[in-house]
Amino acid sequence: MSRELLAYPRRDAERTGEDVRLRNWARNATLGAPGSVSAPTSELELRSLLAAGTGRVRMIGSRMSPGRLLGLSEEGGALLDLSHLSGELSSTADTATFAGATPLADVYAALSARGRMLPSSPGVIASQTLAGALSTGTHGQGLGQSSIADAATHIRMVLADGSVAEFGRDHPWFAAVQLGLGSLGVITQVTLTTRPSPVYTCRKNAVHSDSLGDDLPRWNREHVLAKAWWFPQEEQVQVWTASEASEEEVRHYRDGGGELWEHTTTSNAMNETVEQTLRQMRDDTKIVDEHGKPFRTVTRFRDFTDVTGDIYQVFCRGIATPQINVEIGVPLDRAGEVVEAIKRWHAETRPRMHYPVILRCTGPSNAWLSPSHERDTCYFGFVVYYSDDGSLSEEGESFLRSVERVVAAQGGRPHWGKYFDESLYDWPTLYPRWEDFRRVRDALDPHRRFANTFTAALFD
Ligand SMILES: Cc1cc2nc3c(=O)[nH]c(=O)nc-3n(C[C@H](O)[C@H](O)[C@H](O)COP(=O)(O)OP(=O)(O)OC[C@H]3O[C@@H](n4cnc5c(N)ncnc54)[C@H](O)[C@@H]3O)c2cc1C
Repeated sequence: MSRELLAYPRRDAERTGEDVRLRNWARNATLGAPGSVSAPTSELELRSLLAAGTGRVRMIGSRMSPGRLLGLSEEGGALLDLSHLSGELSSTADTATFAGATPLADVYAALSARGRMLPSSPGVIASQTLAGALSTGTHGQGLGQSSIADAATHIRMVLADGSVAEFGRDHPWFAAVQLGLGSLGVITQVTLTTRPSPVYTCRKNAVHSDSLGDDLPRWNREHVLAKAWWFPQEEQVQVWTASEASEEEVRHYRDGGGELWEHTTTSNAMNETVEQTLRQMRDDTKIVDEHGKPFRTVTRFRDFTDVTGDIYQVFCRGIATPQINVEIGVPLDRAGEVVEAIKRWHAETRPRMHYPVILRCTGPSNAWLSPSHERDTCYFGFVVYYSDDGSLSEEGESFLRSVERVVAAQGGRPHWGKYFDESLYDWPTLYPRWEDFRRVRDALDPHRRFANTFTAALFD
């Protein structure tokens, strides 16, 4: 099979009695051989397990990343399921320490229950583990914050020989450990800083995309949190901008028991655009269940209303649907050029898109390998859904390949936990601390126990 085909693999049906941990969440990759999963029940057991062997190991979280980042199917070795190392371990007034495999949903629930939140805003879903989110640079939106890894102040790891290493923010290697692609050690504990969780009101608007290149940085500069979805064919954008709610809005929200308050005025300004996108998805994927998840991710743009809630209620509302998702971060000051380049590309290729272009900006990240390292970044996200039979349409594949080239050419850095064509990127040029990261890897994993084919090709 060619490397190109492997980049967007076909999705397989669920097999009866299979160990689901041997495949990634999208079921488009096998991660290891039958019997290769070990699930230590404590950090001590994990340490003994590593100390007793010398073979390859790869950690699995919720397995939402592409298989090539996670797996060891080509080289053999053990997959480490760390799901027993989960839960909140301790907290102070402005920090909370969680075990590495704690699902983000549990982190957010624990913080929300005491009126706190992370300084980093959430992504669209919360089923990822904390360590998996850190290791891939998972992020949300808002220029005043960056990736979830940037909320970490202390990371505890078990290294290849079973020893324990602690990294505080002032450790010279902290910025490597923050986002390590699972190639440095096993993250067993993460201390996160927390802050009071305000109530936000999120205004939703439908606007023309004519001035998107100027609007995008402006929305992000004027509002604490902003997110937009761009339908290039219909030249329409749905934009969400959130600011702290007024006293009256907070009262209304609290009177409703703290549930997300959907305001009464709805707008149908995008209903036609939604219908058009659904037609394209239906034609392209041949999906028959129109109430299924892929369709619901789009119908949500219909009849939209402003909402009031906490940051998780407002932004963490995604419907997790197996998909190929490409997301490339470009410097914010080049976002306008990228928008224009996508418009030109769209006019030439007229792709049938299943989902709008997702636009999220973040501030600079401390992590050396973060796509937003040292720069305000605008992420452009592209989604293609699988057909019912697990295939991707040829048109969907070619759409992703060609649009990724357009954005990569503008200095784009791809999201590590999504799909990308690595031949488009010159890593040491894109990442000024690339060589420093490699040196930390040499020191922490000299015998490459945590390497797989994909990370070896990146770093060795
Ligand atoms: C439907 C969907 C929605 C998404 N939405 C967003 C979004 O809104 N924003 C965003 O930025 N990303 C998003 N992502 C990407 C997602 O956040 C990443 O793929 C993330 O890594 C998933 O976490 P996980 O627990 O599944 O990690 P996995 O995929 O299991 O692992 C990811 C990496 O972390 C390593 N790892 C796992 N556990 C450990 C550990 N304990 N110690 C050291 N390394 C470890 C693995 O070896 C691997 O290299 C989305 C993905 C999907 C499928």
